[in-house]
Amino acid sequence: MGRLDGRVVLVTGAARGQGEQEARLFAEEGARVVLADVLDERGEAVAEEIGARYVHLDVGEEDGWRDAVRAAVDAYGRIDGLVNNAGILRFNTLVDTPLEEFMRVVRVNQVGCFLGIRAVAPAMADGGTIVNTASYTAVTGMAAVGAYAATKHAILGLTRVAALELAHRGIRVNAVCPGAVDTAMSNPARLDPDADPEETSRALDGLYRRLVPLGRIGRAEEVARLALFLSCEDSSYITGQPFVIDGGWLAGVTVV
Ligand code: NAD
Repeated sequence: MGRLDGRVVLVTGAARGQGEQEARLFAEEGARVVLADVLDERGEAVAEEIGARYVHLDVGEEDGWRDAVRAAVDAYGRIDGLVNNAGILRFNTLVDTPLEEFMRVVRVNQVGCFLGIRAVAPAMADGGTIVNTASYTAVTGMAAVGAYAATKHAILGLTRVAALELAHRGIRVNAVCPGAVDTAMSNPARLDPDADPEETSRALDGLYRRLVPLGRIGRAEEVARLALFLSCEDSSYITGQPFVIDGGWLAGVTVV
């Protein structure tokens, strides 16, 4: 028995990184998965490999959400889960951030999460689950990622309000708050066909050894396991909460 047998789950940003690992793990656990992304070729290839569906969805597009929900329900007859995972990051100090850049990050990370909840919850079966992807930077500050941190804080607000508003239907809404995770977002060398991903991962582990108590960067598969926990019956009495997964980074500092 898989932990998601009989459930239909839509995962955004599923063509690569954490979303890809979530889609793979959910499919292994028996879910019928709909992968959504703007990277169509890659998303379609992953979907085909794991026996899932792929839909093109820019999460900041209102109409795109309507089409994605319809595609999921047409394909599988229902929808039980949503993982709002798609996100983008831009580095800039606040005083140097152009409004256009700030709004681009808001559009994908924050508006995308809002539109996802708004589009999927009405179509969702009672007892469904929503997992929003926030960040370590949803619960603390980090210099040079002001727009990103603002949207990730906002996602926790959306998570709590959605949990309150949907609880009467047994729909649970939680958030994952990853620290640094070894995907293209934290390790852009992963997008360089000439770079050795193992080597760049080792270099990152070296960097995070000094920052993170567990001494390494996180893995996308580890976040996927947390998203699975929050999407299945193992978390049946949990809603409205942020879950930090950061190797102890937020626990405090060591001075000796
Ligand atoms: P990633 O860049 O590998 O994956 C992001 C995915 O989102 C990509 O497939 C991308 O195409 C997709 N995407 C981007 N804009 C989109 C849009 N408008 N519509 C649909 N899809 C879109 O990075 P990742 O680490 O897998 O990121 C997944 C989530 O985890 C993001 O929300 C990110 O903010 C969050 N996160 C990442 C880290 C990290 O260190 N990697 C840490 C904390 C939180």
